[in-house]
Amino acid sequence: MARRRRSTIGGWWLALGLALGCAGAPDAPEPAGVQEISWVSEQERAEGPPHARWNMVAELRADLSAQRHASDGAGRAWLELAEDGSGDQATAGQAGSWTIIYEAGPLGVVEGGAVGLQVSPFWGWSTPQVEHPQGLGYTVVEHAGPGSLRGLSLQAATWGDQLLGIAVMGRSLEPRERLRIRYGAGPAGAMADRFAEDAARLWITVDGDGDGVRAVLEDSPSVRVLAGPPATLVLTLPGTLTPRGQGRLTIAAVDSSGNHVPTVTGDIELEVLPAGLGLPASVRLRPEDDGVLSIELTAAEEGLYRVRARGPEGLLGQSNPMLVSDRVPRVLFGDLHGHSDLSDGTGSTADYFAYARDVAGLDFAALTDHDHWGMRFLDSHPELWEQSLEEGRRQHQPGRFVVVHGYEWTSWIYGHRHVLFFDDSPRLYSSLDPRYESPAGLWRALRGQRALTIAHHSGGGPIPTDWSVPPDPELEPLVEVASVHGVSEAMDAPGVIYQPIQGNFARDALDLGYELGFMGGGDSHDGHPGLAWLASNQGGLVATLDADLSRDGLYDALRSRRIYATNGVRALLFSTLDGQPMGSRVAPTQLGRLVIFAVGDAPLQAVEVIRGGRIVQHIPATDQSMVQTTLELQDLVQGEYVYVRVLQRNGGLAVSSPFFVRAEPATMPGPPARTP
Ligand SMILES: [Zn+2]
Ligand SMILES: [Zn+2]
Repeated sequence: MARRRRSTIGGWWLALGLALGCAGAPDAPEPAGVQEISWVSEQERAEGPPHARWNMVAELRADLSAQRHASDGAGRAWLELAEDGSGDQATAGQAGSWTIIYEAGPLGVVEGGAVGLQVSPFWGWSTPQVEHPQGLGYTVVEHAGPGSLRGLSLQAATWGDQLLGIAVMGRSLEPRERLRIRYGAGPAGAMADRFAEDAARLWITVDGDGDGVRAVLEDSPSVRVLAGPPATLVLTLPGTLTPRGQGRLTIAAVDSSGNHVPTVTGDIELEVLPAGLGLPASVRLRPEDDGVLSIELTAAEEGLYRVRARGPEGLLGQSNPMLVSDRVPRVLFGDLHGHSDLSDGTGSTADYFAYARDVAGLDFAALTDHDHWGMRFLDSHPELWEQSLEEGRRQHQPGRFVVVHGYEWTSWIYGHRHVLFFDDSPRLYSSLDPRYESPAGLWRALRGQRALTIAHHSGGGPIPTDWSVPPDPELEPLVEVASVHGVSEAMDAPGVIYQPIQGNFARDALDLGYELGFMGGGDSHDGHPGLAWLASNQGGLVATLDADLSRDGLYDALRSRRIYATNGVRALLFSTLDGQPMGSRVAPTQLGRLVIFAVGDAPLQAVEVIRGGRIVQHIPATDQSMVQTTLELQDLVQGEYVYVRVLQRNGGLAVSSPFFVRAEPATMPGPPARTP
């Protein structure tokens, strides 16, 4: 669902009317003068990147420069509750009905102006409609005093996806005059989306002066969306530990869409395979645990461990594999790409990080809301950007859970990049600001900072990367190859991205000579960082090798590409070429020694070696739980690359960062590799 919505969404949610929102308002005055301006020049269209979405750019630029009248977005709104106090909650993926009272502001709404009900345009809320009383989203709009209608005509119509417009005709809506909007008033109600959150907004928009330009009411009412019934237990162990090392097992109850269910209580039996982590045989989820547990453990002996759990209400779970050894690099898992309700995602910033740490059991995370996309924009609301940073600072706990600051540079010209900052008070450089609208402009602004930019959904999706711009070697040493949008590693990968563009994948970028490491990032919009794949079947994680659990440690591992990507699974992948770690430069040689050690979090299908643009080895997994092999690669010549891909039978995927065959020494060497 997420994919369909994000790939087809138009400009309905923009605050600007123009040919969008207000086109449906009968007899509304034409917006004055705005359409005479050309928002994208002929030269831009002719010379710009081939996959640029110019219509989107034109809409955003027009919206940005539109004048807002003081009456736009004015007034107040609240939920009208039933006598028993109900009416401010929803259950994820179930229908309900909600009543909103809108009260006009001190300037009222002129005749020809409009009030709008905009439910989240990004998710599965029913489109409010007035045509079909039996259908989903049926909405009734009434005058709610004071006084009578007195010549007022309220003309409600669906103006776009998830947007109901109410044109004010006949006379003005006077200051403090009220409307009652009953959303889901028919027997079918209105559908809430599938994702739980404390405050899902039912946005009210107001065009107070009737010029076709509207603005959102900042304190639009919200409903609390509760999780559905619990469906499974998520168990997470560290990827690796050294013998006698300490770690923790996290256990969380989630529903079928991955929403955390805080109400589950009861005993959970644990079975450790093989025995030896010092875990109790049974643990109890108490009401005050909010459906999550974190249990300390100590790994006694070398080996590969898993934990199975059987909980209340028939809930089952099995952990990822944990390798206890002092002969492999330490593996940490993180998700450095995701969105909250600060832009177009679900849930608060606080809930985002709590989910990442306590439910998904991640070691590190970044929240990367859009600079200029959603119902309100970070680049024009500095307080929202500050809120994102402040929450990150609050949750950052080196050694336990590391938060990296970030945002998404949402360019509809060159493709999206998320920007990660390894310092504490970064600035946001907007993709709509002419100074930073090209990758070169962005990199100029970031030069000298401890920051990284990461191109994502490169192979297709909402907009592919423009690879004619070479990635900045210092600021962009990586590319994201897996997320909820699908896999952008190569056209021959499982779960390939939607709307794929042949020749535009990460492997094609390597063929252009770019030196890029591979990471996965959830790009979660459902409030489920680290577990975005639960609802979407696709997600993304990045695993670091030999990194300290600190911002410095992560920065070092990412910059030296000592990482691998997964599409959400917690597979383990170790590989060296001539003793060098993945992501490094290796000298040309007649015979290179490639060591591979892979462990799946589900049965393995095969391990593949990719070299010179194609798969050169396909090694079927005979042992379903692991593959361990050493291969000899002949004639590794200057300019080529080699990488390893692990395929699980369930569609799970892990991809190593490439080894780059270069005569020149590495500019950013990692620490010496330890051979598995
Ligand atoms: Zn994006
Ligand atoms: Zn994103």
